[in-house]
Amino acid sequence: MKASVIARSQVTESPIDERFRLIAFNRYLKNVKEVPVASGLSKWVFCCPFCGAMGRTESKKNERKGVLLWNVLQNSWVFFCARQGSAECSGGGKTFEKFLSALDDDLAEQYRIDRWNSGTTGKGHNCPDPISIKKVNKHS
Ligand SMILES: [Zn+2]
Repeated sequence: MKASVIARSQVTESPIDERFRLIAFNRYLKNVKEVPVASGLSKWVFCCPFCGAMGRTESKKNERKGVLLWNVLQNSWVFFCARQGSAECSGGGKTFEKFLSALDDDLAEQYRIDRWNSGTTGKGHNCPDPISIKKVNKHS
């Protein structure tokens, strides 16, 4: 049984990521579905919020081309779109923070503030400091 030798990876989603993921699902994403993957992790698939509406037919519009994949190194979600039909979803993966930014600036700022409060923004983290904090810290 080779599979039992390999340490099973786990989605260790932070409560902040979970909360904002659910907000994003409820407000912005259509046809959300959880899909198990071979490594024991799961991923979330949905209509790409950036290019999904561009589909020519109803079934094309409902195709789940957007995905949140668990990234073990970042310990967070990374967004990809298989169609890459718009500037926002082209050019490789997006960190969860960049994904939220592309969906809703205000929501992303709330996310950055929560992350900042938990001490997980800035250098060495996958989330920049909140914009409002940066302004306060400018000494010019
Ligand atoms: Zn897309």
